[in-house]
Amino acid sequence: MNITGRTIQLGVIGNPVSHSISPRLHNTMIEKMNLDYTYSAFRVTEGEAGKAIDGMRALNIRGFNVTIPHKIKAFELCDEVDPFAEKMGACNTLVNTNGVIKGYNTDGAGFIRSLEYKGIDVKGKAVVVIGAGGAAQGVAMALADAGTEKIGIINRTKEKAEKLAERINTYYPDLACCYEGDFKADIIVNTTSVGMNSDETPTDNLDMLKKEAVVCDIVYCPRETAFLKMAREAGFKTVGGIGMLINQAVIAFELFTGNEVSKETVDYLYRMTELEESIVLTGFMGTGKTTVAKRLCALTGAEFIDTDEIIEKETGMEIKDIFAAFGEEHFRNKESEVIKRLKNKKGAVISLGGGAVIRRENIDLLRENNMVFCLEADIDKVFENIGGNTASRPLLSGKTKEEAKALLDSRREAYKNCDFTVDVTNLERGQAADIILELYMGRD
Ligand code: NAP
Repeated sequence: MNITGRTIQLGVIGNPVSHSISPRLHNTMIEKMNLDYTYSAFRVTEGEAGKAIDGMRALNIRGFNVTIPHKIKAFELCDEVDPFAEKMGACNTLVNTNGVIKGYNTDGAGFIRSLEYKGIDVKGKAVVVIGAGGAAQGVAMALADAGTEKIGIINRTKEKAEKLAERINTYYPDLACCYEGDFKADIIVNTTSVGMNSDETPTDNLDMLKKEAVVCDIVYCPRETAFLKMAREAGFKTVGGIGMLINQAVIAFELFTGNEVSKETVDYLYRMTELEESIVLTGFMGTGKTTVAKRLCALTGAEFIDTDEIIEKETGMEIKDIFAAFGEEHFRNKESEVIKRLKNKKGAVISLGGGAVIRRENIDLLRENNMVFCLEADIDKVFENIGGNTASRPLLSGKTKEEAKALLDSRREAYKNCDFTVDVTNLERGQAADIILELYMGRD
């Protein structure tokens, strides 16, 4: 990236924003389309949206995406509002043209495009929307806008579903209602937060669906929610929430730059974020697996999974105590059992304990559907990273550097069974994440 005095600034404002995937999505589009823009994340606390928008004018920043908690304030503060954002009463995109700021809302259109991307047309369809919050409004209003025939809304708090139906009907008369099982749906979409990082489903009842129906979830962490898994196993086509996230960014980017984003670039964003094959990290203690895994999650928006954490949660014991009470073999059996369960996991970054490679079958199993990367470092780097704190690492506790080196050397052969090895000895902490993502993206 070559930033000059002419480079045009874009960004996202919100709080929190440090976890936001928007910078990665937009900067990837900038790079792929060879445009002279740059996109940053700005943490703007509640009550400060006005100053940020004044700053946008003063600094001649071309575009902002707006996220929690500023979407309504941005709507109130912009100079002009796009008709769809007007119906929403909230903006997620602001475009600054010579000091005049126009507000848009691309969330709902992002959902519709995510369906189109998978070849699904909503025109004339009967749709059930689960949820009645901010996202539900965007999705339902966009469905109405795109020519859906009817919309039934289900929500835990029925009054909110009634209110949402009423609001939709203000603009699209008699289209929406509270769903009472009165029609079979072509499409159902979960817009509640149920299923986010959990195994819960917003409903277990799929009887309301036609045989060829499509089941969607706008929750994207995990990539395949329990709701989508249940639907897929019941034979329905499914669409996950990452597509909505990608496409709301694509539409915003088109508004910022006036350039259409090519199908090829959109495909690239899908590949980058869907992680059809999970990324598995292994490597010796102290090579920075957790830091790299978390950075990979920040870059891709993927789910973070740590096998040691799963074992500790399921046994209610710390790893060092499992070793002390039952020995290494017992721990390795438990670890292999957890790995077996993760074999088909999609859309995740999985960090393994450093000794998981000792059993070749663990790596072979994970390599069937995923890409396995090994982080390597020399023993000085390992000791530098763990800062002499070996107490919580049962296999290093009380060992000299020479003994630790012997253990590391004894594993080197096993590490070669991974798909790729990345030497982190001379890298900054976490820097390996960018290298791994490049390797992952160029895997074919
Ligand atoms: P929101 O305004 O707070 O609305 C939350 C909705 O979830 C409400 O309908 C609420 O029902 C329902 N809900 C929450 N907990 C529930 C539970 N335990 N059981 C049943 N219903 C429950 O939130 P939002 O902004 O609409 O966001 C909802 C989800 O959409 C979030 O997970 C968010 O990450 C996701 N999202 C995804 C995208 C994307 O691009 N893929 C974009 C926006 C949002 P009540 O009315 O009864 O409280």
